[in-house]
Amino acid sequence: MSTITATTVSEYELVSGLEIHVQLNTNTKIFSADSAAFGADPNEHISPVSLALPGALPKLNQQVVAKAIKMGLALNCTINQTNFFDRKNYFYADLPKGYQITQDNLPICQNGFLEVILSNGEVKRIGINRIHLEEDAGKSLHDQDDKYSFVDLNRAGVPLIEIVTEPDIRSAEEASALLTEMRKRVRHLDVSDGNMEEGSLRCDANISIRPVGATAFGTRCEVKNLNSIRNVRRAMDFEFNRQVELVNAGGQVVQSTLNFDADKGTTSPMRSKEMANDYRYFPDPDLAPLVISDEWLNKLKAEMPALPREISQQLVNDYGFNLTEATLLAEDAALLAYFNAALTAVKQQKSLLNWLVGPIRALLNEREIQITGYAVSPQQLAEVINLTDDKKITQQAALQQLLPALEQAPETDVLALTKTLNLLIEDDNDALGDFVDQVLLKYEAQVAAYKKGKKGVLGLFVGEVMKMAKGKADPQKVNALVQEKLS
Ligand code: ADP
Ligand code: MG
Repeated sequence: MSTITATTVSEYELVSGLEIHVQLNTNTKIFSADSAAFGADPNEHISPVSLALPGALPKLNQQVVAKAIKMGLALNCTINQTNFFDRKNYFYADLPKGYQITQDNLPICQNGFLEVILSNGEVKRIGINRIHLEEDAGKSLHDQDDKYSFVDLNRAGVPLIEIVTEPDIRSAEEASALLTEMRKRVRHLDVSDGNMEEGSLRCDANISIRPVGATAFGTRCEVKNLNSIRNVRRAMDFEFNRQVELVNAGGQVVQSTLNFDADKGTTSPMRSKEMANDYRYFPDPDLAPLVISDEWLNKLKAEMPALPREISQQLVNDYGFNLTEATLLAEDAALLAYFNAALTAVKQQKSLLNWLVGPIRALLNEREIQITGYAVSPQQLAEVINLTDDKKITQQAALQQLLPALEQAPETDVLALTKTLNLLIEDDNDALGDFVDQVLLKYEAQVAAYKKGKKGVLGLFVGEVMKMAKGKADPQKVNALVQEKLS
């Protein structure tokens, strides 16, 4: 321990390293052909391997390895081309084999880093110690019955990677920036859906404190199973204050494993049995060492998609987009794919970008869905945008009527539907002129005010004409017409 002493909160700094579990989005489990999908009824996705029936043998899923390597490359890691699996032994009802297959001594990826941008603009580099492959356990259900507990083994054998960072994190802000960036990368690489609520991304936070300026680390506590970025921040804030108070009161931090109570925002020690750490790791004799050929590794390297930062720069260069909007698009792989699919069908690329990062993204956020869950196809949206740009339909009618109608009937021809809904702007100048005359007559007093310089009333006239035209007029044109008649 350091010899520097400190007495107030501001004289301490937080030190943290995260262990992040990422559930991979493969179709099947890591060592069997059972479905790895989320949300099935209990024990629908099982087989002799998940049940650990005698004689059942694991067989490694190649896709799992490919995704772990991609993640390793994205985090600047060394890929260990020879690595192997270990058994981590413990007894629990949701672990029929009595051990978890994981990697202990020789993980698939090591020694990487990830850079995050903090709110003050500083670029912070956080070391990645390792990424290893492992299988998830099943789930015990204690709340289904008064007398019995049940076990659901759907999740047993679902592939995970565990990403272990170096203790480089110095604040809750850095931890949340890291997790946010991590979630972006797993989604961008199509390695995981990254949903923290469904447990696809969860983490344990190791937390210690030390006096500012000290070089040695303090004793850490490990807070288990944090399932949202917000809870990671809360757990860190709580632990930091708890440890500082403890040390200032003359106490010592004892290395321990803690639970986080999300309702209370507090941590508490796990039962000592749960903490006992005697896993007796040894190499799994059922699985041969995993050897990754140069050829395959090079193929995976070649398949790596460009990073969001590179893509947004490309969008700026190619289409003259501004960086903020380009970044919104580049960071959402599904939205970017949608953009690319609509690109050839749209007349103005800038309009497509504006629609996607503007109203369409707002709509997706509101429904909490990704663009892949949106029923309007890229080609159809392109046609809607073209109609709007050509002033054949107002943006309001497109957003409030045409797109919702297309969602209900995704196969429909866009122009035909526009006509059926009676949304085409009427180019009838005489009719519009009539409406303008009527409005100006009706609002005599406001017209007088306008002529005395109260230009603000123009919006009223335009709005009234638009109402009479039932929204099927080009607001700019109406605006010009009104001004013309008033001058
Ligand atoms: P173990 O194998 O006992 O779990 P590791 O050395 O693998 O320990 O570390 C686990 C995690 O704890 C890593 O993310 C690491 O960065 C973090 N860590 C290690 N020491 C400290 C410390 N003193 N304070 C905070 N985090 C730490
Ligand atoms: Mg560890």
